[in-house]
Amino acid sequence: MNLKESERQLDLKRTHYIGNLNASLKGQKVVIGGWVEDLRELGKLTFLTLRDVTGVAQVVIIGEGVKQVKDLNRQSVVRVTGTVQETKSRDFPFEIKSEKMEILSRAVHPLPIDPIGRLESNIDNRLNARALDLRNQKTAAIFKMRHHVLQSIRKTLVDLGFIEVNTPKIIGSASEGGANLFSLKYFDKQAYLAQSPQLYKEQLTIGLERVFEIASFYRAEKSHTVRHLTEFTSVDIESDFMDYLDVIEVLETVVVNVFEHVEKNCIEEQKALGINVRRPVTPFERLTYEEAVEELGHEGIHLGSGDDLLDSHLRKLGEMHKGFYFLIDWPINLKPFYIHEKEDDPALSRSFDLQYGYLELSSGGRRLHDPNKLKERLIEQGLNPSQFTDHLKAFDWGMPPHSGWGLGLDRLMSILTQIDNVREVVLYPRDPERLFP
Ligand code: ATP
Ligand code: MN
Repeated sequence: MNLKESERQLDLKRTHYIGNLNASLKGQKVVIGGWVEDLRELGKLTFLTLRDVTGVAQVVIIGEGVKQVKDLNRQSVVRVTGTVQETKSRDFPFEIKSEKMEILSRAVHPLPIDPIGRLESNIDNRLNARALDLRNQKTAAIFKMRHHVLQSIRKTLVDLGFIEVNTPKIIGSASEGGANLFSLKYFDKQAYLAQSPQLYKEQLTIGLERVFEIASFYRAEKSHTVRHLTEFTSVDIESDFMDYLDVIEVLETVVVNVFEHVEKNCIEEQKALGINVRRPVTPFERLTYEEAVEELGHEGIHLGSGDDLLDSHLRKLGEMHKGFYFLIDWPINLKPFYIHEKEDDPALSRSFDLQYGYLELSSGGRRLHDPNKLKERLIEQGLNPSQFTDHLKAFDWGMPPHSGWGLGLDRLMSILTQIDNVREVVLYPRDPERLFP
């Protein structure tokens, strides 16, 4: 291969993303590239619709090029060098007159799904061909929006002085003692996949004070619901010198900023999804567990104090409280060992859930920072403090009072996009049945 040939091979440059073209570039030579969405032969002309991640344009081919694309399958990859010109089309404000057409990769038909979405494919077929499904503009909009959501969350937390951290996902002992851990062989040892960063993030407050992590966590639960996955993305924070009502405010700010950011920055995505994202009304209502039980009582659902709110109870509450609200001050017996009691009523705890109607979005609270109390609670909950020595020792090194929460990103995305099934807002979801692709 001579040098010229290798140079040609290496040249994959485009002058523009399609979304950056406009009619004022008339007469200008441009190089664009992407996927063939449509091809229409009209005598000596062929109209090719070309899509890249930013948009779609009409390309007109005449002469030699017509033969070149004659047998070209839709969704093949091409690079087009051409000139921007006026168009008679009603669908496009301008078109590109092709001068050079390079076919870079051919799509093999039949494709497993129609990526344009003209033919509705069921969710299983789409998930089995997820990468291709991203050329469906509705699907692409979800994941572009998810990117904006992550950006917004990071910005809010960084502005509030939180430091982003990464904690291990392979762990040696059950962090919260739960039965819902995946176990795995770790050479000749037994290991687990982390179900949350809870213990690590608490430890980190002794040096970094305010930390957050956005990461995948794992729950070995055979849940077949639209809101549970075995691998989900959690946004976690922990801060010292904050009580639970302080981190509630951080959570409300994070959520409200996400909605505002998406409302402003995801105009096209909202259009593609047929939704209007609006800033939720603030402050979010704060309902105590006891008030919730009383409200349910009026509806003929009678709970004893300390009874958990089951799915059916949350659905009833969700009918009465649409949108976001906090459920605060839960009975301590319903909460994990690390949650702090309310000093004036030790049967209750300094804890909260963020709800959206029936759906739980986040759980959080004030944590115990006194190692003796923590040991007592471990024993009370049937856990063995000796299995928590690595964690407990940090409590003797100057553990500040601290609070935090974990927010399910996938559930937040499902609320934002108004799509019930979290599988739709996760690229490659994992559930008890789905391990591929
Ligand atoms: P649920 O009762 O709905 O199963 P949880 O109380 O067990 O949730 P937490 O341990 O409080 O969940 O986790 C914090 C947040 O993480 C939840 O409020 C939820 O948004 C998200 N989350 C937890 N488990 C899952 C899961 N299996 N799939 C998706 N998101 C989850
Ligand atoms: Mn919870």
